[in-house]
Amino acid sequence: MLRTTIAGSLPKPGWLAETEKLWPGWRLEGAALAEGKRDAILAALKLQESAGIDIVTDGEQPRQHFVHGFLEKVAGIDFQKRQTIGIRKDRYKAVCPTVTGPVRRSGSVHGDEVRFARANTKHALKFTLPGPMTIVDTLADEHYRDRGAMAMAFAEALNQEARDLDAAGVEFIQFDEPAFNVYADEVAEWGIAALERAASGLKATTAVHICYGYGIKANTDWKETLGSQWRQYESVFPLLARSSIAQVSLESIHSKVPLELMGLLKGKDVLVGAIDIASNAVETPDEVAGAIRAAMKYVAPEKLYPCTNCGMAPMPREVAAAKLRALAAGAALVRGELGR
Ligand code: ZN
Repeated sequence: MLRTTIAGSLPKPGWLAETEKLWPGWRLEGAALAEGKRDAILAALKLQESAGIDIVTDGEQPRQHFVHGFLEKVAGIDFQKRQTIGIRKDRYKAVCPTVTGPVRRSGSVHGDEVRFARANTKHALKFTLPGPMTIVDTLADEHYRDRGAMAMAFAEALNQEARDLDAAGVEFIQFDEPAFNVYADEVAEWGIAALERAASGLKATTAVHICYGYGIKANTDWKETLGSQWRQYESVFPLLARSSIAQVSLESIHSKVPLELMGLLKGKDVLVGAIDIASNAVETPDEVAGAIRAAMKYVAPEKLYPCTNCGMAPMPREVAAAKLRALAAGAALVRGELGR
């Protein structure tokens, strides 16, 4: 019970990529970059294991960005044709590639990375992929002109990839859908259906991560507009509770998400954010334990996974390491109280 995990990403080492950036440039190239990415996976696994994290990830070390890493091997996207578009309902501008034809996975995207990670840890392994709605919301489109139809096409490509990763022995496959917090109507119309399509037929435990984004200014400014209670999960969680997705990862500590919204996820595993990624202040184990105890009013400890609020990619590396240790220590405190 109370198995710890992370939302997905960890900071990259300074010898591999620019640090403290959401979209870092690589510092190596060619064969040296490929070797560097593998070494960074080893370091990320070791960091989590040493900290006491139970379900580990590759720290998303081999990809530059959580959405566009997957898209690099999807045909139908013109990466030369970059356009500045407003994303997440125009919350911020991003320079995005353009969909110019039917999208199709042109080959395995993350298979080698997963097999490498699998061979180098005995811990349970989780792998993260972007969700269909978030992909659709992070691309310019000149082909589908229908977000729901485009999401289903990406769901098909994601499912092919997920089935490969499943066969490679990953125990948890998580789809990141921060866009679910922005487009409530579309979530109901086609977002959940596309997510279920992406996650269908897997042996691995399926998960969806929904958050309020990295701690960048555009996001913290947006959060200021959301009032004293962030209730975006209220419409999404009942739909997820009825879905085939097994786990839901949510933002909690230091957020204004009312805790009782977790009660809408009856029957699901809940990955509760007990580490703030928008602040470099390292939580104490007591603070983490407090967040876990608060969540236990709504989620049984067997179904509760202490986690980070979101990815840690843009943080200083030593801060992320200290936060992982606090997460594991906080969970251990509560486990002790429960007599396990
Ligand atoms: Zn997130």
